Amino acid sequence: MIYEIISQSYSSNSYVITGDRTILIDPGLPGDPTLATYIARSEREIDVIINTHCHYDHIGGNWNTEIYVHEDDADAVETGDMKTAYSHFTSSFEGFPVARRLKEGDVVDIGDHELTVVHTPGHTSGSICLLDTATRTLFSGDTWFMNGIGRTDLPSGSFKSMEMSFKKLRGIEAEHICPGHGPSFENNIETIFRSFFEVI
Ligand SMILES: [Zn+2]
Repeated sequence: MIYEIISQSYSSNSYVITGDRTILIDPGLPGDPTLATYIARSEREIDVIINTHCHYDHIGGNWNTEIYVHEDDADAVETGDMKTAYSHFTSSFEGFPVARRLKEGDVVDIGDHELTVVHTPGHTSGSICLLDTATRTLFSGDTWFMNGIGRTDLPSGSFKSMEMSFKKLRGIEAEHICPGHGPSFENNIETIFRSFFEVI
Protein backbone atom coordinates (compact mmCIF):
# COMPACT_ATOMS: atom_id res chain seq x y z
CA MET A 1 0.00 0.00 0.00
CA ILE A 2 1.09 3.56 -0.65
CA TYR A 3 -0.10 6.30 1.68
CA GLU A 4 0.25 9.89 0.49
CA ILE A 5 0.68 12.42 3.29
CA ILE A 6 0.32 15.75 1.55
CA SER A 7 1.86 18.58 3.55
CA GLN A 8 -0.22 21.62 4.45
CA SER A 9 2.89 23.73 5.08
CA TYR A 10 6.41 24.41 3.77
CA SER A 11 7.28 20.90 4.88
CA SER A 12 7.70 18.32 2.11
CA ASN A 13 5.08 15.69 1.38
CA SER A 14 5.70 12.28 2.91
CA TYR A 15 4.90 8.87 1.47
CA VAL A 16 4.61 5.63 3.40
CA ILE A 17 4.94 2.36 1.47
CA THR A 18 4.14 -0.87 3.24
CA GLY A 19 5.32 -4.37 2.39
CA ASP A 20 7.46 -6.75 4.44
CA ARG A 21 9.07 -3.56 5.66
CA THR A 22 7.61 -0.07 5.96
CA ILE A 23 9.38 2.71 4.09
CA LEU A 24 8.92 6.43 4.66
CA ILE A 25 9.96 8.73 1.84
CA ASP A 26 10.91 12.19 3.26
CA PRO A 27 9.62 12.94 6.76
CA GLY A 28 9.63 16.68 6.02
CA LEU A 29 10.24 19.30 8.70
CA PRO A 30 10.58 18.19 12.34
CA GLY A 31 7.22 17.77 14.04
CA ASP A 32 5.15 18.22 10.90
CA PRO A 33 1.62 17.66 12.23
CA THR A 34 0.32 15.86 9.13
CA LEU A 35 2.94 13.11 9.33
CA ALA A 36 2.83 12.99 13.14
CA THR A 37 -0.92 12.35 12.99
CA TYR A 38 -0.42 9.55 10.47
CA ILE A 39 2.31 7.87 12.51
CA ALA A 40 0.30 8.16 15.73
CA ARG A 41 -2.67 6.40 14.08
CA SER A 42 -0.67 3.79 12.21
CA GLU A 43 0.06 0.41 13.71
CA ARG A 44 3.23 -0.02 11.68
CA GLU A 45 6.69 1.12 12.67
CA ILE A 46 8.82 2.84 10.05
CA ASP A 47 11.78 0.58 9.23
CA VAL A 48 13.59 2.73 6.68
CA ILE A 49 13.56 6.42 5.74
CA ILE A 50 14.57 7.29 2.18
CA ASN A 51 15.40 10.94 1.56
CA THR A 52 14.90 12.10 -2.03
CA HIS A 53 17.63 14.73 -1.44
CA CYS A 54 19.41 16.57 1.34
CA HIS A 55 17.23 19.66 1.87
CA TYR A 56 16.12 20.41 5.41
CA ASP A 57 12.40 20.59 4.54
CA HIS A 58 12.69 16.90 3.54
CA ILE A 59 15.22 15.55 6.07
CA GLY A 60 14.76 17.76 9.17
CA GLY A 61 12.15 15.32 10.51
CA ASN A 62 14.44 12.28 10.14
CA TRP A 63 15.08 10.28 13.27
CA ASN A 64 17.65 7.64 14.10
CA THR A 65 16.27 4.75 12.12
CA GLU A 66 17.92 3.39 8.93
CA ILE A 67 18.30 6.33 6.54
CA TYR A 68 18.99 5.84 2.83
CA VAL A 69 20.07 8.72 0.61
CA HIS A 70 21.96 9.07 -2.68
CA GLU A 71 25.72 8.99 -2.25
CA ASP A 72 26.11 12.54 -3.61
CA ASP A 73 23.84 14.03 -0.91
CA ALA A 74 24.81 11.65 1.92
CA ASP A 75 27.62 13.78 3.38
CA ALA A 76 25.28 16.77 3.64
CA VAL A 77 22.67 14.67 5.49
CA GLU A 78 25.35 13.36 7.86
CA THR A 79 27.02 16.69 8.61
CA GLY A 80 24.01 19.00 8.33
CA ASP A 81 26.06 21.45 6.29
CA MET A 82 24.93 24.45 4.22
CA LYS A 83 23.93 22.20 1.30
CA THR A 84 20.91 21.16 3.37
CA ALA A 85 19.69 24.80 3.32
CA TYR A 86 18.77 24.41 7.00
CA SER A 87 19.38 28.13 7.63
CA HIS A 88 16.16 28.92 5.73
CA PHE A 89 14.28 27.09 8.50
CA THR A 90 16.34 26.90 11.72
CA SER A 91 19.51 28.27 13.32
CA SER A 92 21.44 25.01 13.70
CA PHE A 93 21.28 21.43 12.43
CA GLU A 94 23.50 18.47 13.24
CA GLY A 95 22.47 15.95 10.59
CA PHE A 96 21.79 12.21 10.79
CA PRO A 97 23.90 9.10 10.15
CA VAL A 98 23.24 7.50 6.77
CA ALA A 99 22.91 3.70 6.72
CA ARG A 100 22.97 3.22 2.95
CA ARG A 101 24.38 5.41 0.19
CA LEU A 102 22.18 4.87 -2.86
CA LYS A 103 23.30 4.81 -6.49
CA GLU A 104 21.55 4.83 -9.88
CA GLY A 105 19.72 1.54 -10.42
CA ASP A 106 19.79 0.39 -6.81
CA VAL A 107 16.65 -1.47 -5.77
CA VAL A 108 15.07 -1.20 -2.34
CA ASP A 109 12.99 -4.37 -2.01
CA ILE A 110 10.21 -4.33 0.58
CA GLY A 111 8.21 -7.36 -0.49
CA ASP A 112 5.06 -6.03 -2.18
CA HIS A 113 7.00 -3.17 -3.71
CA GLU A 114 10.42 -2.71 -5.27
CA LEU A 115 11.67 0.85 -5.45
CA THR A 116 14.28 1.54 -8.12
CA VAL A 117 16.60 4.52 -7.67
CA VAL A 118 16.69 6.95 -10.61
CA HIS A 119 19.46 9.49 -10.10
CA THR A 120 18.12 12.88 -11.23
CA PRO A 121 20.63 15.63 -10.35
CA GLY A 122 19.67 19.25 -10.96
CA HIS A 123 17.86 20.42 -7.83
CA THR A 124 20.81 19.03 -5.84
CA SER A 125 23.61 16.79 -7.11
CA GLY A 126 22.26 13.80 -5.19
CA SER A 127 18.55 14.20 -5.96
CA ILE A 128 16.75 10.96 -6.79
CA CYS A 129 13.37 9.80 -8.00
CA LEU A 130 12.09 6.38 -6.89
CA LEU A 131 10.13 4.20 -9.31
CA ASP A 132 7.66 1.63 -8.03
CA THR A 133 7.31 -0.52 -11.14
CA ALA A 134 4.38 -2.59 -9.87
CA THR A 135 2.10 0.45 -9.53
CA ARG A 136 3.90 2.63 -12.13
CA THR A 137 4.30 5.30 -9.49
CA LEU A 138 7.26 7.68 -9.46
CA PHE A 139 8.21 9.54 -6.27
CA SER A 140 9.78 12.60 -7.83
CA GLY A 141 11.11 14.62 -4.88
CA ASP A 142 11.83 18.23 -5.83
CA THR A 143 12.71 17.33 -9.41
CA TRP A 144 9.25 17.22 -10.99
CA PHE A 145 6.09 19.02 -9.80
CA MET A 146 2.61 19.15 -11.32
CA ASN A 147 3.31 22.48 -13.01
CA GLY A 148 7.06 22.73 -12.97
CA ILE A 149 10.56 21.67 -12.10
CA GLY A 150 12.68 22.10 -8.98
CA ARG A 151 14.86 25.14 -8.29
CA THR A 152 18.37 24.87 -9.67
CA ASP A 153 19.89 27.92 -7.90
CA LEU A 154 20.68 26.28 -4.54
CA PRO A 155 24.07 24.70 -3.66
CA SER A 156 25.03 21.93 -6.17
CA GLY A 157 21.96 22.77 -8.29
CA SER A 158 22.37 22.82 -12.07
CA PHE A 159 19.88 23.63 -14.82
CA LYS A 160 21.95 21.63 -17.33
CA SER A 161 21.84 18.58 -15.04
CA MET A 162 18.11 19.08 -14.59
CA GLU A 163 17.63 18.99 -18.36
CA MET A 164 19.62 15.75 -18.58
CA SER A 165 17.56 14.29 -15.75
CA PHE A 166 14.29 15.11 -17.54
CA LYS A 167 15.64 13.52 -20.71
CA LYS A 168 16.16 10.38 -18.64
CA LEU A 169 12.70 10.66 -17.06
CA ARG A 170 11.09 10.77 -20.52
CA GLY A 171 11.93 7.09 -20.82
CA ILE A 172 10.51 6.09 -17.44
CA GLU A 173 7.33 4.02 -17.43
CA ALA A 174 5.44 5.89 -14.76
CA GLU A 175 1.79 6.93 -14.81
CA HIS A 176 1.30 8.44 -11.39
CA ILE A 177 3.76 11.08 -10.08
CA CYS A 178 4.09 11.77 -6.35
CA PRO A 179 6.12 14.98 -5.88
CA GLY A 180 7.89 16.44 -2.86
CA HIS A 181 5.47 19.36 -2.70
CA GLY A 182 1.91 19.83 -3.94
CA PRO A 183 -0.60 17.29 -5.19
CA SER A 184 0.16 14.07 -7.04
CA PHE A 185 -0.67 14.02 -10.74
CA GLU A 186 -0.68 11.93 -13.92
CA ASN A 187 2.50 11.80 -16.02
CA ASN A 188 2.75 15.06 -17.97
CA ILE A 189 6.41 14.91 -18.91
CA GLU A 190 6.09 16.06 -22.50
CA THR A 191 4.24 19.21 -21.41
CA ILE A 192 6.85 19.93 -18.75
CA PHE A 193 9.69 19.17 -21.13
CA ARG A 194 8.34 21.52 -23.81
CA SER A 195 7.70 24.30 -21.27
CA PHE A 196 11.11 24.28 -19.61
CA PHE A 197 13.70 22.76 -21.91
CA GLU A 198 12.71 23.04 -25.56
CA VAL A 199 13.68 26.43 -26.92
CA ILE A 200 12.11 27.02 -30.32
ZN1 LIG B 1 14.58 20.67 -2.11
